[in-house]
Amino acid sequence: MSRHDESVNLWALFDIPSIEQGGVQAYLNIILAKCTEWFGASIASVFVSDENGIIRCQAAIGTQISTEAIIEEGKGIAGSALQHGIAMLVQDPRENPLLAGQVEQKRDDIGSAMVIPLISSGRKLGVLNLAKQTSDQPFDQEDLAKANTLAHHISLAVANWRLIGEIQSAHDQIRSVFNLLGVAVFVIRNSKIVKRNPEAERLIGKHSYGEILLRLPRSLAEGVNSAVSDAEQFRRAKLQTQHEDTTWTISSAPLPDGGVVLMIEDVSGTVKTTQELARVKRLAEIGQMTAAIAHEIRNPLTGIRSAAQMVAHAPEQAEELAQMIEEEALKLNDLCSQFLDFAKPAELVTAHTDLASIAQRLAAVHSHDFEIAQINLVVEAEDSAHPRMDRNQIEQVMRNLLLNALQATSIHGTVTLRTFNGGFEIIDTGHGMDSETVQKLFMPFFTTKPKGTGLGLSTCRKIVEAHDGVITVESELGKGSSFRVVFANNVE
Ligand code: ADP
Ligand code: MG
Repeated sequence: MSRHDESVNLWALFDIPSIEQGGVQAYLNIILAKCTEWFGASIASVFVSDENGIIRCQAAIGTQISTEAIIEEGKGIAGSALQHGIAMLVQDPRENPLLAGQVEQKRDDIGSAMVIPLISSGRKLGVLNLAKQTSDQPFDQEDLAKANTLAHHISLAVANWRLIGEIQSAHDQIRSVFNLLGVAVFVIRNSKIVKRNPEAERLIGKHSYGEILLRLPRSLAEGVNSAVSDAEQFRRAKLQTQHEDTTWTISSAPLPDGGVVLMIEDVSGTVKTTQELARVKRLAEIGQMTAAIAHEIRNPLTGIRSAAQMVAHAPEQAEELAQMIEEEALKLNDLCSQFLDFAKPAELVTAHTDLASIAQRLAAVHSHDFEIAQINLVVEAEDSAHPRMDRNQIEQVMRNLLLNALQATSIHGTVTLRTFNGGFEIIDTGHGMDSETVQKLFMPFFTTKPKGTGLGLSTCRKIVEAHDGVITVESELGKGSSFRVVFANNVE
């Protein structure tokens, strides 16, 4: 064959089956076989880095290199070709001390060699080695240039192959998570379900999106519809809905390709556990309270008893004593209703509630009390969102806090009642509290007032928590206190 005929027709690369078809090993074997044909090489080998970054012999022709053979960056000709990223042409490899390891030492038939690094996007993937017999015409610069082009092709193919592997394993991982998830997951595009996990099938079978909306309980279908349309407008959504004994959390998020991912989780178990925990907590509190109650009951009872004894000794005072007995009995009755109020779980009857209007009403009802005590009442009630709340119970909270503030403040002091979007606060310039008092504030029956019950703040906290809100307090002895109630956004 003349030199001319031997010239490599790189278009022939298009005849090579793609790496995706037969895998990396078959691809490299074919490439090496073609190299003997294109370059007249009698020895060809390709080294590729494995998952640990070790560059191992992956395929070889015309030589006995074992798959254990490795190339270390910087060592030998191949190692330095890789280190510097430069293809090398070596005319007498046997004489070249750098070649140790890549070509069998005893082969004195090798005349010239090309060592070409395989690099893709800056990543060093391996080395292509080609060698010719002494009897053949040695490789020249033109061969080296062409081998370089071929090396680009190999690098790209190997890098792609790796990428596909990585994508595949990431995809497998996501798929197994998707399948194992105890949450129903749907991928929806243009009102069509394009994917659903086994949990989603368990929930609603293989029905179409339209049918699902018809088959689900109405409250759940409405939730799904609203979550999906939110995500279609590139908004994430998370909401809770209930039907009979079941509570679901529905969440949705937009996907980059315009689709939507929808998740439905049955959270009835969690909701029940939370309710049960709240009940247990309340029972424990009631247990602690028993001693305090006994004490509270004993005072009026002692009054009643001594009044009853006195009736026997001083019948002329019967009317007066009867009134005392009645008053004490009323106190007991009042105590019982407060206690029952505290002991029962807060059941909410909710409606859209305007905090500002509650504040204004309370201020009007109690303006007289403030006037008598000569305390300024400032109301800053801005109109804001009307979240769903139990109006009566929220009014009870505001009233308790307002009256506590009034009772703590002395003449010419100021109490400010301020509402804002999502809550309210009551600030007073009263006597304030030390940190020990602040710690005990919300304990049932904790009171520092001679006629206090100590149930006001514990009831407030119970109501606020039932509304998913928090009540916080800041206080400084001698300066005043402020109580702040903030509701979570999802009350709406
Ligand atoms: P009560 O008003 O019947 O004492 P509460 O639960 O309403 O019961 O309040 C408990 C205690 O917290 C009060 O006795 C008082 O010591 C303290 N406290 C509540 N509000 C204030 C306030 N605004 N300033 C100072 N102390 C307060
Ligand atoms: Mg009180």
